[in-house]
Amino acid sequence: MVDYAFPVSAVPSVSISGTGARFPVHRIYCVGRNYAEHAKEMGFQPDREAPFFFAKPADAVVADGAVIPYALSTANLHHEMELVVAIGVAGVNIPRPRALEHVFGYAPGLDMTRRDLQLAARDKGRPWDVGKGFDQSAPIGAIRRAAEIGHPERGRIALEVNGELRQQSDLSELIWSVTELVAELSKLFVLQPGDLLFTGTPAGVGPVKPGDRLRGSIEGIGDISVSIAPPADPLAPASGTSS
Ligand code: MN
Repeated sequence: MVDYAFPVSAVPSVSISGTGARFPVHRIYCVGRNYAEHAKEMGFQPDREAPFFFAKPADAVVADGAVIPYALSTANLHHEMELVVAIGVAGVNIPRPRALEHVFGYAPGLDMTRRDLQLAARDKGRPWDVGKGFDQSAPIGAIRRAAEIGHPERGRIALEVNGELRQQSDLSELIWSVTELVAELSKLFVLQPGDLLFTGTPAGVGPVKPGDRLRGSIEGIGDISVSIAPPADPLAPASGTSS
């Protein structure tokens, strides 16, 4: 038994629909600009350039139903509603025809973004980390197992803020499919069970503010709801609202 200098943090995890077991999160990967209309709204012409990836820390996951304080050091916290792929089988240099064999399931997720910090970094050629990989930046709903629902290639993906529709598209509009993304990502990293992959957001991203209620849904997969609270001291005693 290892003698650690201080208590080890709990393993971040996500609930799995229809089972008491939880999905232990190993890493969180994300892909940028994977819907044409969103690429355009960010000022880029969509194309079939190889997908590019970034990451969030595993402990950025937030459970469905949580209340999350407005993030630190931003005045432009944005929602990005996304399909999340959960990896269940390790692999590297995975050929496309075998990519889906590595997928454990799918979940609805929010790639919360400090847009002001992301754009400042982008414009200066700096890393995106502070814009994307911050605390509580990855709300994710229950994972539906592929063994149960298969591998959805179409279905409505949408996000409402305070009941008002903000984002809406269809999984069939993904520029790079799940098959292609898993194969491409596995050329760069050894995929492990517990990895999550956010697959990009449709058009309609925008700011949230304290008091907002976000509800995202993906047809055939499920929902994710979170509320935004005023900024709060992150080290104050937990109120039991996050995972
Ligand atoms: Mn995103």
